[in-house]
Formats: sequence, C-alpha cells, structure tokens
Amino acid sequence: MSRIDVLGVGFDNLTMEEAVNAALRFTERREAAYAATPNPEIVMMARSDGALSRALAGANLVLADGIGVIKGAQILGTPLKGRVPGIDFACALMGRLAERGGSVYLFGARPGVAERAGAELARRYPGLRIAGTSDGYFTDDGPIVERINASSPDLLMVCLGSPKQELWMEAHAHSLSVGLMAGLGGSLDVLSGEVKRAPERWQRLGLEWLYRLLKEPRRIGRMMKLPQFVVEAARQRARGRRDGKQG
Ligand code: UDP
Repeated sequence: MSRIDVLGVGFDNLTMEEAVNAALRFTERREAAYAATPNPEIVMMARSDGALSRALAGANLVLADGIGVIKGAQILGTPLKGRVPGIDFACALMGRLAERGGSVYLFGARPGVAERAGAELARRYPGLRIAGTSDGYFTDDGPIVERINASSPDLLMVCLGSPKQELWMEAHAHSLSVGLMAGLGGSLDVLSGEVKRAPERWQRLGLEWLYRLLKEPRRIGRMMKLPQFVVEAARQRARGRRDGKQG
C-alpha cells in the first residue's frame, strides 16, 4: 500500500487496530522488521537529516504518533485515518502478544528504568514474557545485540530517542533475531512511572504536547519546530494548488 507523504516522510494510513494487526504479522515472520512512530519534530528533523530520512523510508511500518502529523496530513489535503501514538500501539501489541505467551525485550532509557517498566508490563499483561532489558547509555552495543539474539524476542522496544533509535534499528535489522522492533522514544520512562503521561482529557483534546511542555520546559527548543511544521505544510499545500491550476 502506498504511503501518505507528510513533508517528505511517508506514513502508513492505518487505524490503531490495523497497525497492531500488521505488527503481529511482522512478529510472526521474524524478519527483524522495524516500526517508526514519527511526530512533527522528527518529520522536521528528517528534512535536514538524510540518514534519518532514509531510516524512516526503510521502516516496515511508519505510524503517525500524535495530533501534529494528523493535522499536517489534513492541511496537505491527504488525511490519515487517525493517530497511532507509539506507546498506545506498543501496549496494544503487548496485550495481544501476552495472549499467545509472546515476549518483549526492553532496550533504552537510563539504567534501572527498563527493569521497572518490565515489572509494570508483567503486572499489566499476564502471560507476556520479559525477554530481557538493557539501558540506552552504552559505548559498545555488541554485548546488547548478543543478549537480544540469545533471547530472540517477538518485540524489541528501542527507546533511545530520535534519530538514534531509527538509525540503530536500520543498522541492526540484518543482524538481529527478533520479530519486530519499534522505535518508541520516551515510552519506557512513562511505563516505569518515571514520567507522567498527560491526563486522558488532555490527550483527547490533542493537547498532550502542551502537557509535556509544561512538565518539561526544556523541550521548548525542540517544540519550536511545531509552528514551522504547520507553516511548511500550508506552504506546500498552496504550492500544490497553484501547480495544479497551472497543470
Ligand atoms: N535515551 C537513551 N540513550 C541515549 C539518549 C536517550 O536511552 O543515548 C533515552 C532517554 O533516556 C529517554 C529516551 O531515550 O528515555 C528519549 O526520550 P524522549 O522523550 O526525548 O523521546 P523522543 O521525544 O525523542 O521520542
């Protein structure tokens, strides 16, 4: 299926349920496929980072994490079905894996965080096996790759932030024995209870980004990309219309 282009990044047009079903099929094939969940900041980053752009284009699943990408696609006149926040996607997938005794390896975040996230996941999804954990502050990832391959998980959560996690997944896709990897940013911080997610009301209103900004004001630099993203989408739409009229 062709992807919907949002400022140079192609997104799969899938509902949450469709995305989870597609992910389950990838875990069954066991070909170390990888999923990315870009938000507008990452789309803007990819415009000036060729390596990130290629890593996203090479992903087997590209999901619209958050309201910004949905709005961008709308402005461009090619709407997506809905948002598929990375953490919700991962949790829904782990729920399904738990039913069949599947396993997950948690990779990323500061030391201790993945273990705490693992304890929470085991409590939430009885039947899910925690294949292993590794923190995201390493100098040599060789031993981590060995541990991942020895445990051969169905799902590998890669939580190193962008663009590190996308580049890591692309680089290791051919040397890993896993079902599916997913780049999931700060998800382990949230699952471990380290960072609080926005209350549901805020999420429903599409204001999760604002909640995060209020909690972590240091994000302001990165978030200044958001207005640029909207302006760029509007500009591209206007250009498309003009070209369309001429053509
Ligand atoms: N991180 C990591 N290794 C690094 C840099 C970051 O494991 O070298 C982790 C960091 O501890 C955090 C996550 O990656 O848990 C990135 O979180 P953030 O909320 O910044 O994700 P993003 O917004 O980039 O998706």
